[in-house]
Amino acid sequence: MKPYDDIFQEYEQLQARADKAFRDMEKDYPSCIKCAEQCSDCCNAVFGLFLIESAYLNSKVDALDEDSKKALLARADQADEALLAMEKRLRETKGDDPEKITEAIGKERVRCPLLGDDEKCALYAARPVTCRVYGIPTLINGKVHACFKAGFEKGQSYPAFNLDGVYRELYRLSNKFLERAGVNDPERASLLLSVSKSIKTPVEDLLKGVKPR
Ligand code: SF4
Repeated sequence: MKPYDDIFQEYEQLQARADKAFRDMEKDYPSCIKCAEQCSDCCNAVFGLFLIESAYLNSKVDALDEDSKKALLARADQADEALLAMEKRLRETKGDDPEKITEAIGKERVRCPLLGDDEKCALYAARPVTCRVYGIPTLINGKVHACFKAGFEKGQSYPAFNLDGVYRELYRLSNKFLERAGVNDPERASLLLSVSKSIKTPVEDLLKGVKPR
């Protein structure tokens, strides 16, 4: 057993909870869920991962064969370059206000480095919780969100998956992960890392601390 396996198992329980919520919605509201194989719309957005998710994803990349790993690392480099170019372009048009830049980044389409040319996720079984529930209503910062392709109707009431609660759990697990490595830094547990950084940064380096993005 590896030193963090029990924490990874706790994380997998969160993934399982998200998968169950998705299956339940599919069963109860089949016509509202529009997710289909190779619909990768939600894979073209910038989003951040908590440390525990980054470490988990990195451990799965590490377990791949050398050729697959090399291909993913090259995609991660390309994604980083695209992100840098986008930030530069947005700074030129929006100025240096970090809030405006963050808001503008949220509206941009940026291909996730794990999305293959076949429009499938290269690490589908290990994908983050956010990816697992994109097609159903979710509660984020107290507001309900749903994919624009979904068929949930305005004015109707539907159960929403509480992502805020999951984020609190991800923070707790990230903190536990750091403490296990002897790092007492709760602030670090709240930092979010891009998928490309998660792919490229070995777990030991994640624990030492990397610049978030
Ligand atoms: S991790 Fe996989 S499912 Fe999630 S956005 Fe990237 S390609 Fe899509």
